[in-house]
Parts: sequence; C-alpha cells; structure tokens
Amino acid sequence: MQKLSKRLQQFRSSSPLSFRLLAYILLFSSLFTLVASGIQIYTDFRKDVSLIDERMSVIETSYASSLSRSLWALDQKLLQVQMEGILSLPDIIHLRLRILPDSELVMGEKPRDIATKERTFTLSHEGDARYDLGELTITASMEEIYTNMRRKVLVILTTQFFKTFLISILIVWIFQYFVTRHLSAMATYARNFSLDSLDEPLKLDRANTPTNLRDELAQVTDAINQMRERLNQDIARQEQDAAQIRKLSMAIEQSPSSVLICDRQWHIEFVNQKFSQLTGHQASDIKGKHPGMLTEEPFTQRENKQLWQTIRLQVQRVGVWQGEVNSVRKNGERFWEQVVVTPIKDSESKVTHYLILGEDISIRKRYEQQLLRQANYDILTGLPNRMLALDRLKLALAQARRENTLVGVMFLDLDNFKHINDTMGHDAGDNLLIEAARRISSCLRGTSTVARLGGDEFLVILPGLAGPDSTEQVADRILHTFVPPYLVGGQEVFVTTSIGIAIYPTDSDNSGTLLQHADAAMYQAKSKGKSAYERFAPEMKEVSHERLQIESRMRRALELNEFELYYQPIVETASGLLTGAEALIRWNSPAMGMVMPDKFIPLAEETGLITPIGQWVLVEACNAAVRWEKSTGHKLNIAVNVSPRQFRDPGFVEAVMSAIQDSGLEPRQLELEITERLILDNTIETADILRRLDHEGVRLSVDDFGTGFSALSYLKTYPFDTLKIDKSFVRDIMTEQDDASLVKAIINMAHSLGLKVIAEGVEEETQTHFLQQEGCDYAQGYFYSRPAPESEFENWIRTNQRGEI
Ligand code: C2E
Ligand code: MG
Ligand code: MG
Repeated sequence: MQKLSKRLQQFRSSSPLSFRLLAYILLFSSLFTLVASGIQIYTDFRKDVSLIDERMSVIETSYASSLSRSLWALDQKLLQVQMEGILSLPDIIHLRLRILPDSELVMGEKPRDIATKERTFTLSHEGDARYDLGELTITASMEEIYTNMRRKVLVILTTQFFKTFLISILIVWIFQYFVTRHLSAMATYARNFSLDSLDEPLKLDRANTPTNLRDELAQVTDAINQMRERLNQDIARQEQDAAQIRKLSMAIEQSPSSVLICDRQWHIEFVNQKFSQLTGHQASDIKGKHPGMLTEEPFTQRENKQLWQTIRLQVQRVGVWQGEVNSVRKNGERFWEQVVVTPIKDSESKVTHYLILGEDISIRKRYEQQLLRQANYDILTGLPNRMLALDRLKLALAQARRENTLVGVMFLDLDNFKHINDTMGHDAGDNLLIEAARRISSCLRGTSTVARLGGDEFLVILPGLAGPDSTEQVADRILHTFVPPYLVGGQEVFVTTSIGIAIYPTDSDNSGTLLQHADAAMYQAKSKGKSAYERFAPEMKEVSHERLQIESRMRRALELNEFELYYQPIVETASGLLTGAEALIRWNSPAMGMVMPDKFIPLAEETGLITPIGQWVLVEACNAAVRWEKSTGHKLNIAVNVSPRQFRDPGFVEAVMSAIQDSGLEPRQLELEITERLILDNTIETADILRRLDHEGVRLSVDDFGTGFSALSYLKTYPFDTLKIDKSFVRDIMTEQDDASLVKAIINMAHSLGLKVIAEGVEEETQTHFLQQEGCDYAQGYFYSRPAPESEFENWIRTNQRGEI
C-alpha cells in the first residue's frame, strides 16, 4: 500500500497533468457509475416488489373463492391442502387464517429479523346474503429480493470500478503518449534553449503524418521554431548593427577631422582623438562644457561668445554653419580651423544633437597668406605690384575727392635697363631692379606708394598733395638718387630713369587715364634725352595717338593675316612624353616687326579686339591639332589662352563649340587657359560659362597660378582640370627654399583637389628632376622647347616625342 502511494506521488510530481486527468476521470466516472447503478438497482427492486404484489393478488383472486367454499363447508382437510398449496408458492412464508368468530389457523414461519410484506383479504359466502367467514393474511418474505439487490450492487460496483479504472488508465496512457510526453519534450527544449543552441530546431518524437502536422502540438512546435528563427534573425541583425556601429564609432574616433558632438543645449557629450590632439583638451575635462567656453582667457571668451551666437542662429535658420575659425589650443596657441556645424536629427526631424567638425587648415592658411603676398607684391623687389598699385591709386583718388587735395602719379622707366639685362644676365638685372626699388622708396614719405608694374617700370603714387610742385620735388629727388653708379657683378654701372608725371584732378580724374597720361609724359621725358621728368601736357596725347595707330593696325592685322600661332610643347614630367602644346600668338607687323603678346593683348582687351582675335586663335589652334594628328599620327592636346573680356563675350561658348566641331577635334583635346584674375569677379555668369564648357567636355586650366587671386576655395568650386604654376615660382625652385616649398605645397594641394599640375617656365634640367620628385604631372618651358612656328613644332613632334631627361 505504501509502495502504491509512493508511486502515485511520483506520478503526480512527474506528470501532474496526467495525474489530474486521472483523478478527474475517476471521480466523475465513479459518480456517474454510482448514480446509474443506483437507478438500475432501484428499478429492479421495484420490479421484484411488484412481482410479489402481483403474486398476492393472484392468490387473492384464485384462492379466495375456493377457500371460502372450504370454510363454508367446514372442510378442514381441503382447507389445509389449499393453504399448503398457497404456502408452496415462491416467497410466501406464512399464512394466518382467522376463522370467525374466534378460531385461527396458522401455517408457515415468520422469522423476526427479516423484511416481509403482508396482505390480508376477507373470505365470505355469497348466498341470499353475504356472510363473512374469516380473513387470510399472507406474509411474503422480501429476503430474497434484498439478497439479490446486494449481490447486484456488489457485482455492478466491482465491474464498474474495474471498467472505470482500466479506461482511465487507458486514457491517461493515450494522453501521456500523445500529449504530455511531447509537452515535457517542449519544456526540456525550452529549458535548454540558449544562444548556443539556436541552430537546433524543436522536433517531437512522433511520425510526420498529415494529421500530426496539423494538430495543436504541431502548431505549438511551429510557433516555437518560428520564434527561434526570428530570434536568430534578430541576433544576426543585432550583430550587423553592432558591427556597423563599431565601424562608425571607430571611423569617428580615428577620423582625420576633429569631431565634437553636443547635446541640444550645446553641452559637449563626445570628442574624438583628433580633437584632443588638435586642441590639447582631454575628453574627460571638457564634457558638459560649451564648445565656445573651453578657454579661461576673457578676451577669447568674449570673441567666442559672439561667434557661437552667430553659429547658433545660423544653424537654427539655415541648418548649417561653416567657416574658418581662428581657434585657441589649451596652451593658448592659436591655429586656423575650417569648422562645419550641423544639427543631428532623429527620425522625426527633431534636433537631438549638434555635430561640429573641424579641420586644421593652418598650413593652407599660411600658404594662402604667402600667395596673397605674392599676388599683391612683386616677388623680386617686395614692392606692391600693378594690381595693388591700381587699388591704392583708386583709394587715393577717392580720398582726394573728399578732401579736395591733389594726387601725383609718376610713371618711371629705367633707361637702358634692357641693355644691361641682355649683356650682364638676368641675375645682374634682378639685382639692379632691387637696388633701384630701394632708391626710389628712399625718396618717399609714409603715405606714398612705390609699385613695380613689371619689367623695369615703376609707379609712384603721392596722395594728399597741397600743390602740384611737390610731385616735381619728389621726381627731382628720385633722379638724384639714381646718380651714383650701381655695383653689379663687381662692376659699376650707371642707370638712370625717366619719369612721367600726371596730377589729379588737373590732368584727369580717372585712374586709367591718369596712368596713360603719366606714361605718355614718361615717353616724352625719354625722348627728350632720358634721366629727366616731364609733366603731362595735353599735346602729349599725340603719344597716345601712337596707341591709336597700333590699334588701327591691329584691326587690319586680322584681315591681312599678320597673326601667327607659335606652339610650345607640354610634356609629361615623369616620362618626357609629349602630351600637347600651348598656342601662343605672335603679330608679324610689317611696320613694327614681330610683336609679342604682352605688348598688344592688353590693348586688344581694352578695345574689345580680343574677341575676333581670340576666335581666330581658337579656330587656328583646333585646326592645327587636327592637322598634326593627320600628318604625324599623334593625338595631342592643344591649350589656348583666353582673356577675361573674350571669355565674357556672350557668344563665347558657342564660338568654342563651333571651332571644335568645324575642325573635328575631340572636345577633351582642347584646354582653355584662364587666369585667376577672371575668377576674381566671382559672378554667376563666370561659374555658368565654366560649367557649360566643362559639361561639353572641354578641359579648363588656371593659368599663371599664384599671381592673382589667392583664396584657394575657388579651385574647389569651379570645374578646373589643370593648374599651371606660374613661371615666377618655377624659376627659383632650385635656389629659393620658399619657392620650392610653395611649389611642393601647390602640387599637393592641386592633387588633393583632383587637379593635374603643369609647371611653366622650366628652363633647366635640375628643375625637371625637382618636379619629377614632387610628382608634378606636366612641364613646359625653354628646357624642352621655345614656342615655335607650326612647321618647326611639327618637326619637333617627329623628333622629340620623348623628351630626353
Ligand atoms: P602664358 O599663357 O603664361 O604663356 C607662357 C609664356 O611664357 C609665353 O610667353 C612663353 O613664351 C613663356 N615661356 C615659356 N617657357 C618659358 C621659359 O622657360 N622661360 C620663360 N622666361 N618664359 C617662358 P608669350 O608667348 O610671350 O606669352 C605671354 C602671355 O601672353 C601668355 O602667358 C598669355 O597670357 C598671353 N597670350 C599668348 N597668346 C595668347 C592668345 O592667343 N590669347 C590670349 N588671350 N593671350 C595670349
Ligand atoms: Mg598660357
Ligand atoms: Mg602661364
């Protein structure tokens, strides 16, 4: 018994569901069996009882009359026989016959402790009248009925119990086999489920019959396996996301730009390594601070406050702020950085953070400043150049207009300088120019300007004069300083200068005309015998007449076919291979001889003649390149110079395209050389023309790079392909450390912007080695070839496809 209860306990804990099922089946089927059996037994009992009743009724109906007759006849024997007959009937155990008036006849036995049933009926004689003779009481035993009933209860209960028990066991077994063992398997699977076992699906130990595949267990299994799949996918996605995040955070951390992330209140949340390197501030020290409040220095704090106010407003309004900022490192050192500030937005476009990117541009800034100096100052003498001089002249005129004063303009040209330069060499010439510049400057006071206009020409501006005579006094002083001889190459040489003077507002109120007048006066001084000064006089306009003459000759030169193109090879620096040529115009004037472009291009620009001349150059150059391909088999690029006025002509792009189409040249073979000065105006039209040309496939290069506009940002903005470093930088790369490092920087910068670089004015072999080493792509200069007429250049193509370097 103990063993059984232990087993049950075990069953209950190992399979509580089956145990409960068993208990409920047993309970309910027992109840049901009890009720059903009770009803059955009761019905049988009722039937047995009514059988006895029926039997008694039969006795009454069949024996009452015969008994009455025997009583009437007082036939005791018959009476006895009849009673014995009744007693022999089943269940009848006792008969009592009360005979009126007072005798009694008893037959059979009536045990005390058994259940009985009695029935009494009257015996009477029916004659003329009715005579009651007595009463018969029949007693029937119920014992057998009860015994039967007990036996039945026992049998029914026993058989029902066994049946119920066996069926329950069977049901439990079926339940266990089909359901609970699989539930246990699922539980075990779920218990052992971990990231390591994600690849093993849940499988139930049963056949894959169609019914099995559809039932609830299959549905649960599928659901579990789907969950596992989803988990697998989620984990894979999570891993991918994590890898992506890792990559991005590494990229930010190791970015070459400094990265700073602030929250919405502009409190620093994150800075990368580069930021710490650049500024000296460690992340932990500045977290939570405002990016403009990293320094304690009150002046810088004030400066930063204004700057960050502007930044905040612009980021709010425009969505981005960018600019160049002169920032301060932790140690107080200043440096330039290019800063971009943008908001970081979430998926609902709400600003959550701000991103501040910084790039150290100190080196670029230094070069920009150097270039700015070089763009405005003459490298040789350190004096302002023509551009700056013209600016200053305009300023002086504006001031004089306001203050009602005079401005003196002096045009100086050294006499016989060309001779010294040709006979004693360029170095001697250069030294002489430097000394001349020094002597001129020594004669002037603070507000005056001395500028070198180019070659041996100088300009002096004397602002705020009270009277015209003071200019002449200065001119006298200058002539005097030129009297002592110059020591050039250990030799004493005498150099004088001729000076032309024009005065504002007496001679003109326009800067250009003033210069022209001073120029004319200078020619007058020269023609008078040099080492003299001359004030402008209206008759001198005659000299300008000469200009008019040149102009009218130039107009006819096109018709008379006096222009000619010379070609100068452009070679690949590394291999010496010829890649193209630059077309350079010459004017074979019967009256003036060979005129170089520097002498007539500016005039052609002024008069607008540059447009037809430039168009002629374009057509001629395109045709030439096609001719060379036919005659030599070499496809060469052709570079054509374009001056600003020609460029801005409304039909320029069309003119370029028709020159290309008419000649049959490929657009990319043509390279248009544009000077930096053109970009200075920064107009939308310029940008538009450059883009249209670029779109047509024509290449664009910046000519004389470094002599004009010095902010390099335009290189990024416009679609240039090539940058030509001006010959003034290339000339001294082997002797001047500054020039060498500037050329290096220009090459690197151009390459980082995706531009090719051509070095102009390469005259010596050593320069080619330097350029090769620095990765300069192409070179051009007298070292390879001077500009040559077409026939000579064609010869050069045939013999020198490979430059010998
Ligand atoms: P650029 O475009 O910078 O042309 C290069 C100038 O440098 C040419 O002078 C060339 O002869 C000279 N050159 C070349 N190699 C060397 C060298 O090794 N050393 C030295 N010292 N000089 C060298 P060129 O032919 O007198 O032309 C002067 C300028 O006239 C050109 O400068 C260009 O701006 C302009 N130009 C020439 N042809 C045209 C043209 O067809 N149209 C326009 N608009 N301008 C032109
Ligand atoms: Mg050029
Ligand atoms: Mg050039």
